[in-house]
Amino acid sequence: METTLQDLVASRLRDIPDFPQPGVVFKDITPLLADGEAFGAVVRDMAARHRGDVGVVAGIEARGFIFGAALAHELGTGFVPVRKAGKLPGRTRGVSYDLEYGSASIEIREDSFVGGERVLVVDDVLATGGTAAATCELLEGAGATVVAVEALIELAFLDGRSRLPGRAVNATIVLT
Ligand code: AMP
Repeated sequence: METTLQDLVASRLRDIPDFPQPGVVFKDITPLLADGEAFGAVVRDMAARHRGDVGVVAGIEARGFIFGAALAHELGTGFVPVRKAGKLPGRTRGVSYDLEYGSASIEIREDSFVGGERVLVVDDVLATGGTAAATCELLEGAGATVVAVEALIELAFLDGRSRLPGRAVNATIVLT
């Protein structure tokens, strides 16, 4: 029987219950990253959807850096890290957004874009969509155009897409 990419990815994820807090099932992607065939297949699959259509890949700290940098290399584009507040030196531009408990802030370098760049946003997990939505707002406020959002895993029961209306959103594997 043929193994699909979704089957391969599903077999390389590990559920960690109650991490980092009670009630959360953490999706551990490290077994996938450790498997060169699976990791490569995911990156090529993401790249195939956007080849020739994006000029920059933006990865969300921290696991979005892993897929984002590999994807930028595969597409032959530059990479912009979207970092947690306080990590980037020099002049930055940031945005704050609400989490279930409290809030978070993310930043990019102020001179990340000259304007009009076509950007692909990448992260490992799309959960409530708050992080991805804040990232799109941050990048577009800096003059870029967000072409699409790519995630390895979409937790569809959290309806993250509703925070990204009108945007192209794609996940390698959708968990319901
Ligand atoms: P959200 O803003 O709710 O969509 O959360 C997305 C961010 O939180 C991503 O950067 C993920 O890495 C992380 N995240 C959220 N839920 C999980 C989960 N169940 N397992 C692993 N990472 C998660």
